[in-house]
Amino acid sequence: MFNLVDEKWIPVLWNNGQVSAIGIKEALTRAGSIRQIAASNPMDRFAIMRFLLAVLYWCKGNPTGDETELKGDSFPAEWFEKLEAEKDCFNLLGEGKRFFQNQSANRKKSTTELLQEIPTGNNFRHFRHSTDNINGLCKACCAMGLLRLPLFSVSGLPDLKAGINGTPPIYIFAIGPNLKETLVSNWMHVDSIGNPSWVAPSITKISSSCAPLLDGLTTLSRKVFLHNPDDEMSDCIGCGKRDFLITTCEFQSAGELRNELWNDPHVLYTDKEPRKSLKAPDPTSTGRFRMDRQWPETASRISQSNRFIGANTDNMILVIGFSTDKAKNIDVWERTIRIPSKPASTDTAATLIELWKKESWLIEKQRIGSRSDKEKSAMAATIRPHVEHVVSSRLDELLTGEPAAWDDASREYRPLMSAVAGALSPGFTSSALERRRKISSVAPDMREKKSTGKTRVKKGGKKDE
Ligand SMILES: [Zn+2]
Repeated sequence: MFNLVDEKWIPVLWNNGQVSAIGIKEALTRAGSIRQIAASNPMDRFAIMRFLLAVLYWCKGNPTGDETELKGDSFPAEWFEKLEAEKDCFNLLGEGKRFFQNQSANRKKSTTELLQEIPTGNNFRHFRHSTDNINGLCKACCAMGLLRLPLFSVSGLPDLKAGINGTPPIYIFAIGPNLKETLVSNWMHVDSIGNPSWVAPSITKISSSCAPLLDGLTTLSRKVFLHNPDDEMSDCIGCGKRDFLITTCEFQSAGELRNELWNDPHVLYTDKEPRKSLKAPDPTSTGRFRMDRQWPETASRISQSNRFIGANTDNMILVIGFSTDKAKNIDVWERTIRIPSKPASTDTAATLIELWKKESWLIEKQRIGSRSDKEKSAMAATIRPHVEHVVSSRLDELLTGEPAAWDDASREYRPLMSAVAGALSPGFTSSALERRRKISSVAPDMREKKSTGKTRVKKGGKKDE
């Protein structure tokens, strides 16, 4: 049967450094002892946390605001009696109800369709090789794949559609020092809780403007029905575990389920009309290869949304971006950003991030006086990921609006800029040395701008002279 309530399928890292796999019930009743979900892929980590949050809402409802309820090390076992009472909803295999699966699915495919990073069909440009219908997944990987699909499905042939959020958006999830705090930080009052799709796994499009929380969180994006496991053991192509693997399943489109009105609690939206969700850019699109994680936009939206400010956590936010070019899965990345419990003001924070973004762009486009545009951009693009990484991981200091913090951030450019200068302007003529000196001094100018900024900074980075 493989029931997800008790079977060991969720990989966790305990506070004492041990790693093991546990079921849903243990994850919730011992959440205080769990440091984090120990899946190596950010898609799994996020999908599991979001799922456990949905189970918490389903069993306990909205948070009551009663602090004493949350005093214990973990969530009380009596909160989750419903898990036992309706245990059959969580069967991965067997006759009768099955978790996140659909009896009517009718299109035989390899089970590896469930995990994006394993190549299927004739996708041959991969370092990892897998043969459809021969390589299979263990039951734990199948369960994780089923959780992932609704969040990260893309549209494609023959009639596949993305899930309720359309093309996968950037997802955010507040992170605490342990799994209990993490779930509590994301457990906020909602008006309508609704029903998760594990209760009645039929796939229906939610059309109302106020899609209830659990309906939205668990809307399936594919009709899937797992076939029986093999009779002999072999190694799972997902995690390497030796198990009776499932190599094939029924895997079919669930139709158009995108809902423009659904307010996903883990998605950031723009305030323009029509509302759009933030998405990770495709890093491979022609001529624009850049690992620009779009964090400034994300950070700016988080601080404006005010969603996690003052939440019961040290304000760490996990950001997961999934890039696609509509039908292809291109890349997935994660970033943890720390936001201050009390920023200067959300407006100031947004202005500062906007300025940083603009300054970084100016460096790439104007300030490195070089031989050709392409060379300039390429040079700046190679050092940007490092700078952006350092800067975004200190976002909490930066968003308080202290000028010194931004000066430090700008300084991150310096050692890298001297390397860039050496590459762009080699030789020892006086003009080469002069040019090298100019390039080395290029850095974002985060000072408050008084003028209209018309000729604020001259090409070639003369501002520091
Ligand atoms: Zn596996």
